[in-house]
Amino acid sequence: MDIISNNQVPLLSLDRVIDLKLPELVQCRLCQGIVLNPVACKNCEKVVCSTCIHNLNDTKSEPICPYECLSYIERPCPKTISHILSTLHILCQYKPNGCPEIISYTKFEEHEKECNYQLSTCIGCAQKIIRKDYEEHERQCPFVLLTCDQCLTSFQRKDTDLHTSIECLRIQLQQQTSKIKQLEIKESEQQIKIDSMQQKVQEYEKFWIGFANTTNQIRGMFDK
Ligand SMILES: [Zn+2]
Ligand SMILES: [Zn+2]
Ligand SMILES: [Zn+2]
Ligand SMILES: [Zn+2]
Ligand SMILES: [Zn+2]
Repeated sequence: MDIISNNQVPLLSLDRVIDLKLPELVQCRLCQGIVLNPVACKNCEKVVCSTCIHNLNDTKSEPICPYECLSYIERPCPKTISHILSTLHILCQYKPNGCPEIISYTKFEEHEKECNYQLSTCIGCAQKIIRKDYEEHERQCPFVLLTCDQCLTSFQRKDTDLHTSIECLRIQLQQQTSKIKQLEIKESEQQIKIDSMQQKVQEYEKFWIGFANTTNQIRGMFDK
């Protein structure tokens, strides 16, 4: 059957099930793994993973059944299949990292979300670290950034020795100097504003004196 791509990676590969029963009933024809979040074809009642069937049919105008029915109408997974699935036990996908857990089919995804054996990326060295060892790794990783609480400069843990108290004081002095410079710039800006306001006041005064003089002259003309 050529409409089916068999090169898909199984969502839940058969070798992770430790007590596989009736594989012909619970295997997904699309990914060849054990069905995950299964749905079924209404016609043949065979199950597939919901992700797999949607990947297959999303781009098609007429959905097709992976088992070659004439049409595909989706229905929920038959109860008997759900029951068989619920009796299976699964090896955690992080077993290669050391996880010893064997979890029931209904709980294994929940476990894997929380599993302490999945990998986290170190914020310092970007190495992948097993989650249970992460805290200790981060506490010692030479590439994690530290911040000096005196001068607020950040540096990698491995460079801590370079940040001597003299270096720290030098940085603080530099910070103070640049703060003072900024204040001086602000002050001179304020002075320019004050100067221009004073000039305006003087212009007003001149205007009012001129105005008063003219009024007096006019008044004098009438008094005569
Ligand atoms: Zn599948
Ligand atoms: Zn079918
Ligand atoms: Zn695990
Ligand atoms: Zn690291
Ligand atoms: Zn410092």
